[in-house]
Amino acid sequence: MHLNYLALAVPLFLTFIGLEYLVSHKRGKRYFKFNDSIANLSVGIAERLLDMFTVGLFYFVYDYLHRHFAIFDIKQSVLLWVTLLICTDFVWYWYHRLAHEVTLFWCAHVVHHQSEEFNYTVSARITVFQAFVRTGFWAVLPVIGFPPAMITSVLLVHGLYPFFIHTRTIGKLGVLEYILVTPSHHRVHHASNPQYLDKNYGDLLIIWDKLFGTFQKEEDEPVYGLTKPLESNSFLWQHFHFILEMFYSVRAAHSWKERMRIIFGKPDNVDPAAREILEEKFLLRNKSITETPKLNNYVVWQIATTLTLLFLFLLLEHYEPVFIQVCITLLILLTLINCGAIMEQKKWVFYLEYARYLVLCLALYFYWPHPALLCAAALIMVMAFYFQSHLKQRYLRLVYGYTRT
Ligand SMILES: [Zn+2]
Ligand SMILES: [Zn+2]
Repeated sequence: MHLNYLALAVPLFLTFIGLEYLVSHKRGKRYFKFNDSIANLSVGIAERLLDMFTVGLFYFVYDYLHRHFAIFDIKQSVLLWVTLLICTDFVWYWYHRLAHEVTLFWCAHVVHHQSEEFNYTVSARITVFQAFVRTGFWAVLPVIGFPPAMITSVLLVHGLYPFFIHTRTIGKLGVLEYILVTPSHHRVHHASNPQYLDKNYGDLLIIWDKLFGTFQKEEDEPVYGLTKPLESNSFLWQHFHFILEMFYSVRAAHSWKERMRIIFGKPDNVDPAAREILEEKFLLRNKSITETPKLNNYVVWQIATTLTLLFLFLLLEHYEPVFIQVCITLLILLTLINCGAIMEQKKWVFYLEYARYLVLCLALYFYWPHPALLCAAALIMVMAFYFQSHLKQRYLRLVYGYTRT
């Protein structure tokens, strides 16, 4: 059987999260918040899913650049593997630093910093937008002459390491603090305390921060999250709020010079009032959110099912037709939007079920292209429309434990 064993990262990742939860529980600490952890996992699930479609594209880019523009002819050797790892880490430092200092890149990276908790689930907060920006930076590696196969292997190791530094359960690590990026260093990076802002950009080695003046030791207890917390669990809002804030500011600008300053300047140039105005327009914040056990149960079951589906989806990727891959991706994305909206107690989650139903029917039709299936699907849909108000009430009661008016 031709399985994709990289899928095993999913259960491994969950095991570590479970262990971290147990350790923090034993120490009497609350490092996990339900909504935050679910939101973090949702972002990670979407990224892993979409990564399946982009990984080939990125490899193609590295390969193309290597074949046409490579400056040096680099052959594999132990020394070169080490050199590549150090080069990758150096490029990462600048990618990460600019992701914080340039508005356009911050649009993608901001998602990683929205969590107000700090645990292993935060390491999942990577988006596919970020992968595109990063690839732009890493494109310098094949141009230097590193072969694409070597690059993708090193990126795998380099991408795995940061998982371990997103935790509060590990204190300072003695002599390692001088060389590697440790959990302590990365806690500082995720903190919004004034003295910790824009510090510790490194991924693997802390030397770059020390060299370029962005190093900060962990002293006071960090406060995690954005300086202006998002206070929303909406999957869509988390991904797009800053992009919208940027566009809003660009539209309000009076000259092209000002527009360029907003897009390519520091994120501080984005109008601070934009968030509130856009929230009014798109988020329709629900002020009276109360956590109900019913709601939590539904979200937990959905996320658990989605994680299982994601694992199987990745494991069996070589056996799935592209059409089914697209269907599963859509189904999972709709589920994540659904979970985020449920945590915000939105009423429109009901209508998302129509979309999920439609995708499911398409997938079924792919395997059983019979007119009877279409008829049955259409009949169910018509019935659902007919009894919509009754169904909606029942659904909302099931999900939220009461009917919202
Ligand atoms: Zn960052
Ligand atoms: Zn991080």
